[in-house]
Amino acid sequence: MRKTWLGKNGVAGLGLLAMLAWCGSAFAITGDKAEFVKLADDVYAYVGKRNDANAMVIVTNQGVVLVDTGNSQPDTRDIGEKIKSVTDKPVRWVVITQYHGDHFGGSPYFMPATVIVHDKVAKEIASMKPYQIKSWRKRFPERSAALEGLAPIDMVMSFPDRMTLNLGGKRIELIYVEDTYNSGDVAVWLPDSGVMHGSFAAYKDRHPDIRPDYSHGTTVTMLKQLEALLALKPRVVVPSHGPLSTVSDLQVMVDYILLARQKVRLMMAKGMALPDVIRNFHMNEFKDWDRATHFDWMAETIHRELSGQGPIIVTVKELNSSGELTGVIEAGRNLTLKTAEGKDVRLRVTSDTNIEGAADRTQLRTGMKVQALYKEPEDFNPALGYDVIELTVAR
Ligand SMILES: [Zn+2]
Repeated sequence: MRKTWLGKNGVAGLGLLAMLAWCGSAFAITGDKAEFVKLADDVYAYVGKRNDANAMVIVTNQGVVLVDTGNSQPDTRDIGEKIKSVTDKPVRWVVITQYHGDHFGGSPYFMPATVIVHDKVAKEIASMKPYQIKSWRKRFPERSAALEGLAPIDMVMSFPDRMTLNLGGKRIELIYVEDTYNSGDVAVWLPDSGVMHGSFAAYKDRHPDIRPDYSHGTTVTMLKQLEALLALKPRVVVPSHGPLSTVSDLQVMVDYILLARQKVRLMMAKGMALPDVIRNFHMNEFKDWDRATHFDWMAETIHRELSGQGPIIVTVKELNSSGELTGVIEAGRNLTLKTAEGKDVRLRVTSDTNIEGAADRTQLRTGMKVQALYKEPEDFNPALGYDVIELTVAR
């Protein structure tokens, strides 16, 4: 474990930020309630509460195309309700803009829709582990009949580069920008109305989540994507997270990344070692942006990119701990577990986490006695906590 890292964004820092976000301070860029906004005829944005993942809905006379599937079970159900409020057509296609739980995790709710992803993502879905498939299948008990015997890959249709859907007179273009480290992020472009879902690259008012394992690509990947998206001059951009934006916000993101790269480059030129680069890196020029917790990983990622290194290869150990939840924030996404030995362990519940004894992570509360099986990465800064494989709540 690289202990030098824990100072800046350790438990205290994360807790404070999350608490501020919880109280609706400047860190909460979108409101406490999700919004469903009409962007054009038959096109709607689901703007997640408190900067949770956004979604986009396109209604055609052939059925509904849903882009991304919500941050947690209650959000996914809410998206389903919002769709019902504007059409009685079923969701027939689900496009995934990035293979992360807060975008893909709600997909079982809409089965038997066809899930459209990039080829790289299809490969990931095909190699889901049994506990992940189990968790996918039982995420929405009310859908258990539709999910019986179904594996996530059974519903997948994938493409290598670009793909156009022509549905009921509407043109829906799926755009993948080739790069070794683009992990399969797909933007969605509606040329007739000028509306775009900008996928991972289109952050607004939120520090991007780029990681040294390049699982979210690199800053170069992001710049390539932003260049391609900017050229289309969208009228409205639905970012992966945060308020609706426009083409000028895409340009802000370009400026952001160029500045972040320049900062790390200057520190490296002064001969600073990685731990010092991380300690001194910030993007406070972008005032009031959400998720300053991403700085450590961003600094390390850029450091790797600029020194010509590939992604960090992380070896993971599985550990088991039991104890009491002493901290539950972000609707159960981030937990602090006080173990029987009196150690504080920061845990991160992902959409793959198999939860036993509670319906979903939003039901987790401080004081609950739990047992957690989680992944401890070796030699890698677990800035957001350890990912939980299985969480069992004692009854
Ligand atoms: Zn996300």
